[in-house]
Amino acid sequence: MKIRLQKFLASVGVASRRASEKIIQDGRVQVNGRIVRELGVKIDPDVDEIKVDGKACRKEPRHIYILINKPIGVVTTVKDPFGRPTVLDLIKGLKERVYPVGRLDMDTEGLLILTNDGEVTYRLTHPKHEVEKTYLAHVRGMVGRQQILMLETGVKLEDGLTAPAKVRIVKYDGDSTVLEIKIHEGKKRQVRRMCSAVGNPVIYLKRTHIGTLSLKNLKPGQWRFMTAKEIEYIK
Ligand code: URA
Repeated sequence: MKIRLQKFLASVGVASRRASEKIIQDGRVQVNGRIVRELGVKIDPDVDEIKVDGKACRKEPRHIYILINKPIGVVTTVKDPFGRPTVLDLIKGLKERVYPVGRLDMDTEGLLILTNDGEVTYRLTHPKHEVEKTYLAHVRGMVGRQQILMLETGVKLEDGLTAPAKVRIVKYDGDSTVLEIKIHEGKKRQVRRMCSAVGNPVIYLKRTHIGTLSLKNLKPGQWRFMTAKEIEYIK
């Protein structure tokens, strides 16, 4: 979309709209290598190269924050070498490129953030920031006090001891148990391996929360833009 040159300069933070007009009139602005002094000129920020005092100024990509309920059978990558469906296939129509924040296994359902904001990705995935993730794990067998205690204090996996988790029995369901498990780490297949290690392998796993962000009424495969309040929370 074409916009007035002074509006573009103001939008990328060169100066106020009025001051940008002066900068243009002073002959300090080039559009595609040519100095432009007139104020009526319209440019396309996605196509035209704009320089002020010889320095390129570009439109920063708009930051996008998406919550998606990843269905089972979909991989959390941008492109899959085996041609399996990826989370990006689910958000067709979006102009901006976004990337998954962390990952869910192909056989795990649930809440995933997609964004093009590298700062947010870094903060949410860095172990130091310890964002709590909540999972509903449907596991084989009856989970008792002993298993809860082991999951809560730390389970020995081949890549080390897990940090303390918060675990709650949601219900017993025939010969299986539904657990709510809250962890801060992101070891590979962590919840599955933790449950297997205490003798209760996972049958079905779903991430319901990332910190206070929740799935709400998103059905598997559905996505939505995050609200201003949700964005404020992750920033
Ligand atoms: N733990 C798992 O085992 N799998 C996931 O996808 C996420 C956490």
